Amino acid sequence: MNVNEILAKLHAKLPAENTGVVASYIPELAHVGSEKFGVHAVTVDQREYSFGDAQEGFSIQSIAKVLSLTMAYQRENQELWKRVDVEPSGTPFNSLIQLESDGGIPRNPMNNSGALVVCDVLLNYLADPKKDLLAFVHSLSGDQSIGFNEKVAASERETSSRNRALIEFMRSFGNIHNDTERLLDFYCSLCSIEMSCQQLAQTFLFLANEGQSPFTGEQIVSKKMTKRLNAIMQLCGLYDEAGEFAFRVGLPGKSGVGGGIVALRPRDYCVAVWSPPLNPKGNSNFGMTFLEGFTSEVGDSIF
Ligand code: GLN
Repeated sequence: MNVNEILAKLHAKLPAENTGVVASYIPELAHVGSEKFGVHAVTVDQREYSFGDAQEGFSIQSIAKVLSLTMAYQRENQELWKRVDVEPSGTPFNSLIQLESDGGIPRNPMNNSGALVVCDVLLNYLADPKKDLLAFVHSLSGDQSIGFNEKVAASERETSSRNRALIEFMRSFGNIHNDTERLLDFYCSLCSIEMSCQQLAQTFLFLANEGQSPFTGEQIVSKKMTKRLNAIMQLCGLYDEAGEFAFRVGLPGKSGVGGGIVALRPRDYCVAVWSPPLNPKGNSNFGMTFLEGFTSEVGDSIF
């Protein structure tokens, strides 16, 4: 069986296994059809495999946290880890609970508190934060058409009480420096980035290629930094389900409440999958099942 045939075979399980609930706490996300499904894989030598709604854009949500982290890490290097830790949390993505005992230092940059600190760092560096963020995404993907979904961003801004609480709580520990509304605005735009599975797999391919863009040859981050970004994804990318994801899929990965998951095998390939219904941990239910099948039948895992 070739790769495309295996993708089709794995997809055939969808009707029976499409349980879960499409996110609605950001109201605009609830409008997406629960039956949507796409997958796109691209290898570091640029072979591409696609199935289903792989060209259709969706809200990548927390997957974008890896991109903002990459930008902040490029600028701050080791200094960044004074403000955000690299430990798995074992708590939901929007949890406040550990911040008190951890003195306002988020456990990792993949949960909301950590991603908000990373955005706070970037606001100190970027002249035009949203424009500079998109320019970075365009340089990674080679695709100038990628943008924010303004409806999703506005919808999240209107329902941001919890993220606002995280910001103010961390500010009380001295770990937030910028204005709350400016920070939330940037964070909500970050999460609203819209991409297809194809664009997502291409954007993240540098992390499977030792930090170098296979498309332009540009070294985005060093090999050493790439190792660390992938380690953070492996241990924290699926929040309190990171263990389960490592156990079942065996790749560094990052999920978002838009139903996307991106995963990669260093020096080999990157794969993005999209299925909107989420499990109770906020990760794509069928996305995880599909990737488990994918690493079992197509690509190898890292283990
Ligand atoms: N924008 C979402 C939030 O802050 C991101 C969460 C996610 O994708 N896990 O709640």
